[in-house]
Amino acid sequence: MNVVELIVAKRDGDRLSDESIEDLIAEYAAGRVPDYQMSALAMAIVFQGLDDRELATWTHAMLHSGDVLDLSSISKPKIDKHSTGGVGDKISLPLVPLVAACGIAVPMISGRGLGHTGGTLDKLESIPGFTVDLEPSRLEAVLADHGMVMAGQSSRLVPADRRLYALRDASGTVPAVPLITSSIMSKKLAEDLDGLVLDVKVGNGAFLPSESSARELAETMIDVGAAHGAVVTALITDMNQPLGEAVGNANEMAESIAVLKGGGPADVIELTLALGVEMLLLGEVTDDPLDAESRLQDAIDSGRGLEVFAGVIEAQGGDPRVLEDPSLLPKAPNEHVVLSSESGFVTGCHARDIGVSAVRLGAGRATKKDQVDLGVGITLHAKVGDRIEVGDPLATVQWTEESKLADCLEILPTAWSIGRRVSPPTLIHHRLS
Ligand code: URA
Repeated sequence: MNVVELIVAKRDGDRLSDESIEDLIAEYAAGRVPDYQMSALAMAIVFQGLDDRELATWTHAMLHSGDVLDLSSISKPKIDKHSTGGVGDKISLPLVPLVAACGIAVPMISGRGLGHTGGTLDKLESIPGFTVDLEPSRLEAVLADHGMVMAGQSSRLVPADRRLYALRDASGTVPAVPLITSSIMSKKLAEDLDGLVLDVKVGNGAFLPSESSARELAETMIDVGAAHGAVVTALITDMNQPLGEAVGNANEMAESIAVLKGGGPADVIELTLALGVEMLLLGEVTDDPLDAESRLQDAIDSGRGLEVFAGVIEAQGGDPRVLEDPSLLPKAPNEHVVLSSESGFVTGCHARDIGVSAVRLGAGRATKKDQVDLGVGITLHAKVGDRIEVGDPLATVQWTEESKLADCLEILPTAWSIGRRVSPPTLIHHRLS
């Protein structure tokens, strides 16, 4: 295999053969294809795409770049959820324990922050001691004991995605239907799932902002799932403004804990329940959406979701006391409040700008090697539809380094637009299955 020839072929719009894709992914996962060549090829794919056959082969090669779980010993329905990436999107954190408390097994393999969006793995690591690096046998054991497990791609599990995901993050090659599809579906298909619920984001904070591209992404992922025998349901949901009030890592964990305790922002609760309903329906726990929702609500009210999460935190080496006392989570030492210079109604709270501001603060990575500062973040005080006056707080920034705060404040204060009264946006746009 000559990688330069593959890059040139894709750059010029040619198809790649099955054999060359399989060799390329295996060699890349083994560290024998350099990142600069893979990022050139990924950029060619951003512009030229992959056709259906190339995508099927690419996904298959990623999926088999490491071990594939065999969860046949787990008798519960195995259902997972994945988001295509958003700002303030912490939904997996409250969702998975609640669904597990309702009798579904969730073997979740997640990613880290990508571009301007946050990642479940980084948020989980804000719990002192928590490890997302699990051997397949340990992953299966935690799943069997607790009905859920949350881990990352590793040298054993989808190693090709582990490398390529970090590379795409640092090379501007995230927004492409085939690359997002193969990244998400290789992780999910490695989980030996019965069903998958996708949260496909649409809006300025999504990787593919338009309704038509979100739909294309959802349909492509549904087709790839079906080709591998997994039933997939997708919700297309709004990402024009961040979800909830917290954007960062530890602060998003704290907000998720609040949801598990029966509090938290209304949009986070609404989406957690909507995705949870789909997971219970796919797992055939019930065939009635209202019954599914009341089971999830009961898992919150009874504290069973919180109990499941406590067990998993302990099993994955973390300190479960954070559930009782979220002040044990990391917290940046300083605060800066962004004030409104106008009065009126919030007509926009730009998700991408807020996501980029959080990354500049240190909540995400600008290069592959960057360390995330888990305690920095942004707390939003004004969302679309809210009435505000001059001098009201728009956001509080929790910061560590002055230069990073300055970089963040180049963008953050203009993320809001103020005007005449508007209604808050509809959160769930469409359902596809
Ligand atoms: N989430 C993933 O796992 N991969 C992507 O490419 C985008 C979102």
